[in-house]
Amino acid sequence: MTGTNGKTTTTRLITAALSPLGFQIASNIYGANMEAGLISALSRAPDARIAVLETDEKYITAMVKATRPKVVTLLNLSRDQMDRAAEIWLLARRWREALADAPDCRVVANADDPLVAWAAGSARQVTWVAAGQRWREDSWCCPNCGAHLQREGDDWSCLECGDRRPPVSWMLYDDEVIDPSGRSTPLQIALPGRANRSNAVVALAVAEAFGVQPSYALREMRLVTSIAGRYTQVSRRGCDIRLLLAKNPAGWLEALDVIAPPPAPVLLAVNAQGPDGRDTSWLWDVDYRRLRGRTILVGGERRLDLAVRLEADDVQFQLVNDIDEAIDAARSPSLEVLANYTAFQQYRTVLGRVQ
Ligand SMILES: [Zn+2]
Repeated sequence: MTGTNGKTTTTRLITAALSPLGFQIASNIYGANMEAGLISALSRAPDARIAVLETDEKYITAMVKATRPKVVTLLNLSRDQMDRAAEIWLLARRWREALADAPDCRVVANADDPLVAWAAGSARQVTWVAAGQRWREDSWCCPNCGAHLQREGDDWSCLECGDRRPPVSWMLYDDEVIDPSGRSTPLQIALPGRANRSNAVVALAVAEAFGVQPSYALREMRLVTSIAGRYTQVSRRGCDIRLLLAKNPAGWLEALDVIAPPPAPVLLAVNAQGPDGRDTSWLWDVDYRRLRGRTILVGGERRLDLAVRLEADDVQFQLVNDIDEAIDAARSPSLEVLANYTAFQQYRTVLGRVQ
């Protein structure tokens, strides 16, 4: 399973969805998704009959060759920090080549993302899911021929080469999932936001490939309330804090959809250590104007970079040095925290390794 955003959450939801099978499942649930993490996930569960593996976008082609998976899931593909558009196109082309060479593999792919649809289009068997595409800045061009894509709602098509959004067999409608037979079932998952509901629909499509009916899969998926500290509420000095993780422009856009409405104050935090990407110029790709008029606190090691960005969008804010200063400044019974990778991990440690 791979994609730019939602990998860890979707891996967890797929693992839950497959649990009615009663088999031991190997999985890298904490998001270590390159060689060492994958090997350790498999060696922790040597007798497992199924492995649900989150795999780095650049690593999935090697994994397809090495493991001949029954199902490959492709969520989305957009820039991660400093990737360039040309780089993600090359990545999509490598996915496409690897899947063309894996005739026995079923691909569960997001039809709403043109790059993903193009990459999956070479596969022999594809289950198309309307999993949404909140972030469109990386897909104005047809991946097949480079012409400008026509877009209307979730639909997309290329007038030059005829490439278009494939017909989907799974979709999300508000909080309902519509399965290939046309039956609609309320999702009612505990994880917040449209992006997570889309991830849940993808997980249901994967579960079906393993013979698990949506009602059985959903019963287990609804029990998933947090993913390695994300979405959990934790109380500190009388303030209910909720942590959200977002690593790149597409992730921030999705997270801004998930945060509680005003007046809940929001702490935004950005670091630029190795895993975050050293360059913070990606902050300029996110539109922050919807935060105007709210109580916004800005933290993290690169808070000044974020401050400059917010000023450009006319968003009022206050700088804070740590979570306790943020709680004091928030003067509110609740605080939403949106942080990138290492900033998130630092807060999580201060808050006692919340699960
Ligand atoms: Zn085209």
